[in-house]
Amino acid sequence: MSVPRVRFAPSPTGYLHVGNARTALFNWLFARNQGGVFVLRIEDTDEERSQSSLVEAIIGGLSWLGMDADEGPYYQSARTDRYAEIVEQLWSAGRLYACDCTREEVLARTRDNPIPGYDGHCRERGLERGPTTALRFRTPETGTTVVHDIIRGDVEFPHSAMEDFVCVKSSGQPLFVLANAVDDRDTAISHVIRGDDLLPTTPKGVLIWNALDERDPVPLPAFAHLPQVVNERRKKLSKRRDQVAVEYYRDQGFLAEAFRNYLALLGWSPSGDREKVDVQTMIGEFRLEDIHHASAFFDVKKLTHLNGEYIRDLSAAAFIEAAAPWVAPGRVTARWAPSTGAPPWPAERFDQEVFAAVAPSVQGRVSLLSEVPTMVDFLFLAEPVVDEAAWATRVLADPLARPILEAVTRAYEDCEWERETIQAVTRSAVDAVGTTLSKGQAPIRIAVTGRSVGPPLFEPLELLGRAEVLERLQRALTRLDAG
Ligand code: GLU
Ligand code: ZN
Repeated sequence: MSVPRVRFAPSPTGYLHVGNARTALFNWLFARNQGGVFVLRIEDTDEERSQSSLVEAIIGGLSWLGMDADEGPYYQSARTDRYAEIVEQLWSAGRLYACDCTREEVLARTRDNPIPGYDGHCRERGLERGPTTALRFRTPETGTTVVHDIIRGDVEFPHSAMEDFVCVKSSGQPLFVLANAVDDRDTAISHVIRGDDLLPTTPKGVLIWNALDERDPVPLPAFAHLPQVVNERRKKLSKRRDQVAVEYYRDQGFLAEAFRNYLALLGWSPSGDREKVDVQTMIGEFRLEDIHHASAFFDVKKLTHLNGEYIRDLSAAAFIEAAAPWVAPGRVTARWAPSTGAPPWPAERFDQEVFAAVAPSVQGRVSLLSEVPTMVDFLFLAEPVVDEAAWATRVLADPLARPILEAVTRAYEDCEWERETIQAVTRSAVDAVGTTLSKGQAPIRIAVTGRSVGPPLFEPLELLGRAEVLERLQRALTRLDAG
């Protein structure tokens, strides 16, 4: 028996849409589960869509997610001759007819019709094909096309409610339904897995398919129409309201594995109440029959949480490598640079060893890799970026801040410069001032790092060096003097 063949067939948009990435993933998981073939097809019959830069983003996104195609990409723009041949075949079999109605004419005639759409006006006019005629499919007047859908069961489309739809525009350009069906036939696709927004077009494709079968029978694929991916308002993700490009999430510092895992949960669940599952488990358990009917909420909070879990599971070395694009985009380990911009410090001040030393404590505190630079910037900037709100409330407004900063300054002047000693002398210094290490740390942290939150304090102090720490404490004291 031949192996299943599935395809991901995006129209180039210049980015990989999250909903499309989910469609691609379900195709890919199905193919991997079945030992099948995952085909990539670029549906670029619209001329403005056939630019290679628009396609690169899609291929790049798939590759980032580890879903490279086994076959393709095939480009519809390269198959115009084939579509012309098919159009000839359908025309000579009488399955198409020419129509010269304008949109306005059709609208004027059909405004009050109970069933919207074209009214069959040119069906029996016997027009010749020409530069002003579109070609419409002669939909049977009676009967029903039943789409057998693996997820939704049988969906019936009575022909009486289907119009004679356009297959070829007057410009000669074949439309989506035609090119799509022809390509699925020619590449022997066995399963069409795609968003359920396309379900209304499926019976048209099936009619074309069956018409072509008269000369050249090809088994109709099985269909699986996936529930929509929606935002918190339960609306389809919109380019204007929502971040829909997979690249955006990559730039924010989502790990590909975490993002892919989360995409899999959009309409499918692994066994046993789990959400975090590795790709082998997904492949092993994936079944089209288990896909949910309800639309899937793309919950960025949940995705972020899952990403944090994936980050914490990385080995120290893998975390350092994963963070490289955000902290050291010039280094060889950074394969690409996020469009969120370069880190805030001058490249030559970055010190890989210092970063590697604090990385393990940063790793447990971020949910996104893009959060890493603000956690460590004080180590690589000549002066820390001060969180003014934290300065106002936790230094300026705290009567103990000055005595604490003065006491640790004295203690740091001649203690051994090593984290445990630094911690011990800090403890005694804040004790003497009458507070605890956990409370007394805030002014020190803000003076040295600029922020009220961050990795544990004493290791970074050691890494910064005595002179730099004393200078920062002094600067904070001078600023306190100024009020
Ligand atoms: N090119 C179509 C789209 O991006 C998808 C076609 C299909 O999967 O059948 O909406
Ligand atoms: Zn007409």
